[in-house]
Amino acid sequence: MRTKLVAGNWKMHGRREMVASLVPTLVSRLPQGPEVAVCVPFVYLSDTQAAIGGARLQLGAQDVSECEDGAFTGEISAGMLNEMGCRYVIVGHSERRARHAESSQRVAEKAAAALRAGMTPIVCVGETREERLSGRTATVIAAQLAPVLALGASLVERLVIAYEPVWAIGTGLSASVAEAAEVHADIRAALAKVSAAAAKTVRILYGGSVKPETAPALFAVDDIDGGLIGGAALDAEAFLAICNAAV
Ligand code: PEP
Repeated sequence: MRTKLVAGNWKMHGRREMVASLVPTLVSRLPQGPEVAVCVPFVYLSDTQAAIGGARLQLGAQDVSECEDGAFTGEISAGMLNEMGCRYVIVGHSERRARHAESSQRVAEKAAAALRAGMTPIVCVGETREERLSGRTATVIAAQLAPVLALGASLVERLVIAYEPVWAIGTGLSASVAEAAEVHADIRAALAKVSAAAAKTVRILYGGSVKPETAPALFAVDDIDGGLIGGAALDAEAFLAICNAAV
């Protein structure tokens, strides 16, 4: 039985006042059952951690360097994130793959760095609209996953994977339940080839314009273990409603 996870991805949104208002609201109304995390901009990790206090809300970041500490101007190491109290870190978000040319190999190295530091990477995969329309969804996702799955069973078993169709991110166009279920089942089958334990324990989140209205049907699917939530994570009522759909 996998505990559902709902992770908010704030992206490059918010100011300190948003941390000060949103985080305490979430903390005071978290439902019992699912695990809930907020992946905030690096500069607000400390404020967010302070606002969480000892509550069950988990702290996450949105990216991590694949390198150990060193001469890497502008980068943030896994050890630093761990020290800030991060439990989760998103790696391979499509916005980073597209804007920062992150290859799947590099994404796997970032995931490995996070795991070495004791955090759980949320590894994002997903096809573009053109790739879906040309029938290449399964191939694209398999290729994105390959270097991550090559990390080996003992590391793969500790991952979270997020299926985020690129065409659904921030567009208001969610994958249908059937479309999401098909890809999640494929990912589960790929995990099974690494190890039975990975197939059983790894949580596969769906992300892409999840809303309070669409979350219940998505989260009812066996292979969908929660969501990675962008826009709706910036609104306490919407995010809490989505968390409640994961109960
Ligand atoms: C995301 O950025 O991970 C995401 C899923 O965004 P949105 O929910 O806004 O589509």
